[in-house]
Amino acid sequence: MIIWGTRSVNRTINRGDFHCPQCKDRRPYRERRSRTFLHVYWIPMFPLSGRSEHVWCERCKSMFQREVLMLDPRAQQAAAQTAFTKAMITASAAMAAADGNVLDAEVERAWGYVDALGGGADITVDKIRAFAGLIAAGRADPAAELEAVADMIPPHAKELIIQIACTIAAADGEADPAEGQMLRLIGASLDMSEAHVFGVMASMRQG
Ligand SMILES: [Zn+2]
Repeated sequence: MIIWGTRSVNRTINRGDFHCPQCKDRRPYRERRSRTFLHVYWIPMFPLSGRSEHVWCERCKSMFQREVLMLDPRAQQAAAQTAFTKAMITASAAMAAADGNVLDAEVERAWGYVDALGGGADITVDKIRAFAGLIAAGRADPAAELEAVADMIPPHAKELIIQIACTIAAADGEADPAEGQMLRLIGASLDMSEAHVFGVMASMRQG
């Protein structure tokens, strides 16, 4: 009698810590690649399936799809903060550049927000001025920069970005039509409806 059957062969391809949905805590994991083989006398003969990868919690032994690594709340929070900072800098520089005239008052106000809201030590007034200059010259595309991070920013943080943009527009003391247009562009690039953007602006005027 020939003894045969199927058997899956696992190989660890990656290790680390992750947020295990089963343990609801930080745990060590192994990312494993497995493949099912036909075996004859327990010797793998040929593969019956393609490779598949999964994540295995070393504590509770649960198996998850690889996407579980992206559900890490801590990692997600850090990514959201980075996305927000990037969008805030982009929106601020874009507003300072909107009327084609990058004024010190606008750049300084922009930097004040970036600094207060945790923009990081590597962001300086000069960097924001240079970025605004690139946008004014058409050599940087604020819409593309904002679209790239829009998905990672929560709604209330998007409203905060619109509020910051409004106060930068007001820094030179006059409401320029180009600034209104830029505000709409910023809102649209952040996936906000025009009504939402106007609502945020209206609530600021009342406040
Ligand atoms: Zn677990």
